[in-house]
Amino acid sequence: MSAQNQRMATRCVHAGKFPDPHGSPFTPLYDATTFEFDNTADLLAVIDGKRPGSLYTRYGLNPTIRSLEAKLAALDQAEDALVFSSGMAAISALFLAHGRDGIVGLGDAYGGTLELLSHQLPTLGFKTRLLLLQEMELLASALDEGARLVFFETPTNPRLDIIDIRKVADLAHARGALVAVDNTFATQVNQQPLALGADVVVYSATKYLGGHSDITAGVLAGARRLLDPVRAWRKNLGQVPAPTTAHLLARSLRTLAVRMQRHNANAQAIAEALSRHPRIRKVRYPGLPEFEYYELAATQMSGFGGMVTFEIDGSGEDARTVVDNLKVFSLAPSLGGVESLVTQPVTTSHRDLSPAERSRRGITDSMVRLSVGLEDPSDLIEDLEQALA
Ligand SMILES: *Cc1c(COP(=O)(O)O)cnc(C)c1O
Repeated sequence: MSAQNQRMATRCVHAGKFPDPHGSPFTPLYDATTFEFDNTADLLAVIDGKRPGSLYTRYGLNPTIRSLEAKLAALDQAEDALVFSSGMAAISALFLAHGRDGIVGLGDAYGGTLELLSHQLPTLGFKTRLLLLQEMELLASALDEGARLVFFETPTNPRLDIIDIRKVADLAHARGALVAVDNTFATQVNQQPLALGADVVVYSATKYLGGHSDITAGVLAGARRLLDPVRAWRKNLGQVPAPTTAHLLARSLRTLAVRMQRHNANAQAIAEALSRHPRIRKVRYPGLPEFEYYELAATQMSGFGGMVTFEIDGSGEDARTVVDNLKVFSLAPSLGGVESLVTQPVTTSHRDLSPAERSRRGITDSMVRLSVGLEDPSDLIEDLEQALA
C-alpha cells in the first residue's frame, strides 16, 4: 500500500522511512556533515542531481533530513517538503524566494512574520501590505497592484479567527498569485490547506509537530517547482536544522495524530467548561457552536485544535491575576507542547502594538490564551476554576 493511500495516523508512523540495511524500524540518525563516494563519477551523479543521494548536510542531502521531509510531504499530501532551523527560517526563505513582486499578509500573524513584512523586507525593497480580516475586500485590488504572494494563518493568533482558505485561493489564483498558509495552529491532522487550494503550507515545527517544547524547527510543504527556489535560499542562508533536531522531529511526528486527537478533546472540554463559567465574558474556540467562525471551521477543519482564548469579565489586571494564579498551566510564550501553557496576549505576543492597534485587531486586555496540553482535562478545568475563583 502506498503512503498516499494510508490514513493520517499510519502515515505519521510509517511515511518517509528509508529501507535500513540493519533493519531499524525507522530511519536512524545520520549525524554526519559529509558523505563518501566510490569515485568521481559517482560524486558528480549526486552533485548534478542525476541520482538521489547524500552529499552535504547543509544542502539538506542527509538521510535523516530527507527521510523527515518525505514523512512531512506525505502528511500534507504534498509533492515535497523542506525542513528549516525554525519557523521563521522557513517563512523568511519563502518570502525571499517568492515575495519579490509583493506580499500581502492577511489577518493577524505571528510577531516575527509581522516584523518581516512591516519593517525588514521593505528595507530590501519588497512591497508588502498587511490587511486585517475585516479589510478582506481590499485583497483583490492589492493583487491587481502586482502582489504575487498571499500569506495568512488560520486559526489566527490569539483570536482564533478562521480564514476561508478555498475563497482566498480562488481569488488569488484568478490573479496569478500564490497562496501560503501558516498551518501551525491546526497541524496536518486538523487541516489540509493544499487540498483546499493553497500552494504552500508553512509550519513552526517548534509547536505541535515537535510537541514537547524541546526542538526549534520549521517546515514548508508544496509542489517541487515552488520549493526548489526556496531550497536554494535555504542552502546559502544556512537554514537547515541539525540532523539531531531532524531526528527528534521525525520521532515526534510518529505520535502527532494521537497527540492532536487528545489536544482537540482536552481543548473542547475546557472551552465548554469555560463557556458556562460566570466570570467569563466570551470563549473563542473554533469547536464551540456559538463561536462566530464555527461553521467555516467545521467545513475546512477536521478537528478544532488545542488553542483556547477567553475574555474574562473584568480588567486587564484581573486577567493577569488569573494567569498568575494558575498552577498546572505554566506561564510561557509558546504553544503546542504536552504541557499546558497560558499567556495574556497584551503582556506577551502583542505587547509591542499600541493600544489603538490592539483594539483595531480586536485584542483586549482581558484576553487570556491557553495552549491546552495532554494532562487529564479534569485537572486543567479544576486549575482554571481555582484561578478564576
Ligand atoms: C511560533 C510561530 C512561528 C515562528 O516559529 P519559530 O519556530 O519560533 O521560528 C510562526 N508562525 C506561528 C503561527 C507560530 O506560532
